[in-house]
Amino acid sequence: PTFEAMNLKDDLLRGIYSYGFEAPSAIQSRAISQIISGRDVIAQAQSGTGKTATFTIGMLQVLDFKSKELQSMVLSPTRELATQISQVVGNLGDYMNISAHAVTGGKTMQVDQKKLAQGCHVVSGTPGRVLDMIKRRILNTRHLKMLVLDEADELLSETLGFKQQIYDIFAKLPTSVQVVVVSATMSRDILEITKKFMSNPVKILV
Ligand code: AMP
Repeated sequence: PTFEAMNLKDDLLRGIYSYGFEAPSAIQSRAISQIISGRDVIAQAQSGTGKTATFTIGMLQVLDFKSKELQSMVLSPTRELATQISQVVGNLGDYMNISAHAVTGGKTMQVDQKKLAQGCHVVSGTPGRVLDMIKRRILNTRHLKMLVLDEADELLSETLGFKQQIYDIFAKLPTSVQVVVVSATMSRDILEITKKFMSNPVKILV
């Protein structure tokens, strides 16, 4: 399998190669095309399998960067991960005119507000901050096309307590939003999310 065979945009392919990737990993070979096709996707994959680039490449292929609206959000369980994801989006999208921004707790919202006001296609954040910003109308989800839950088992774990916030975020999204869930394990909470918010998802296990 090759990235060329995926019929990706030239500027995206260029970003992938200059980031140093030569060939798709197993999850990338199987899941990117499904994401591009518009289907809801559940990918059961651990860290280290190339999961981040999977949803990032899928997202970069389908978003419309001529529009300045927020089109994709990625929720993840930690500030560090949210920041890393935003960097991967920026790197793989280096030759595309995209703007990605990480919104996490622990810093003032003014910087985020300014960045978002300038136009931002992709937001990567932790659930608490994202929900807070939606409620304050700093984040406008009206044009959102895709929501990714990364490390969904962690996101939904009792310990972190994000479950209600995630449900509240879903309630603020267009019902047509494409949902991509990545998780190392499949818990009852994930199946519940699947049933409530996903339609006819394709399941990919690597
Ligand atoms: P992840 O599973 O997203 O935590 O990624 C694990 C590591 O694999 C990261 O350092 C990625 O940059 C790297 N990686 C992801 N996809 C590829 C690929 N197709 N070729 C080489 N390295 C990759």
